Amino acid sequence: MGIEPPKEAAAPAPQLMTYIDSVLGEERADRVLMYNPDAIGQWVYEKYPYFTAEVVANTELALSLHSVVPPVTPVCFGTMYTGAQPQVHGIQAYEKPVIRIDTLFDALIRAGKKPVIVAVKNCSLAHIFLERDMDYILVDTLAQSNAAAAKVIMEDKHDFVVVYNGNFDYRMHRSGCESPETLSELRGNSQTFAMLSELVKQYWQSHNTLMGFAMDHGCHDVEPFIAKKDGQMRYATHGQDIPEDMNILHRYMIHKAVK
Ligand SMILES: [Zn+2]
Repeated sequence: MGIEPPKEAAAPAPQLMTYIDSVLGEERADRVLMYNPDAIGQWVYEKYPYFTAEVVANTELALSLHSVVPPVTPVCFGTMYTGAQPQVHGIQAYEKPVIRIDTLFDALIRAGKKPVIVAVKNCSLAHIFLERDMDYILVDTLAQSNAAAAKVIMEDKHDFVVVYNGNFDYRMHRSGCESPETLSELRGNSQTFAMLSELVKQYWQSHNTLMGFAMDHGCHDVEPFIAKKDGQMRYATHGQDIPEDMNILHRYMIHKAVK
């Protein structure tokens, strides 16, 4: 977007910068829409390509990334939106404190940009970036968050939009990484991304928009066990430094302004 990065951020991913430059030349993106599904491991994505056909159809760059340790949601999104390792941003376990170091949201606000986070209440992403002078649309259900995301695009007032969908993660823990129920959540994420892509093409025609399909970490199956938390069965998890949990594949697309 041509703004100063967050203060503790590492260098940007060269493949992403090369892609952006190849499409936009001297221009920059003036809008970003980050779609953040939770826990879609690269291996699931690659084993079941049909279930993410819409994501592939609506993106041009596939970017293989390594998650951060431990690969659990607040640790990973902490890194994604600060550019800093967990030791630097401070979340090193499944905890949801508000991050105190400089974040991308702070950098956007300093540059006069308007960010917004759209998510269900109490999810990690909704918590750890609170207390900034920005908009948060925190709702009760997945459908409400995606309806709110659609409305944000149509209103065309925000420069940087984060949309969180935790449905794959939820079902994966409760039925396994490859169950029909979990894979149907994957397809749902893919179709939601396609719907948001269509809205961006229609309502943000005057903007150069970077869109990302960017998960936090992967997942792996485990011996079924009863979770202490709610007495329900669990069939899969994540949080270990193993390829299934650590290897993720982001996808990106620039929608150029229509002149
Ligand atoms: Zn999880």
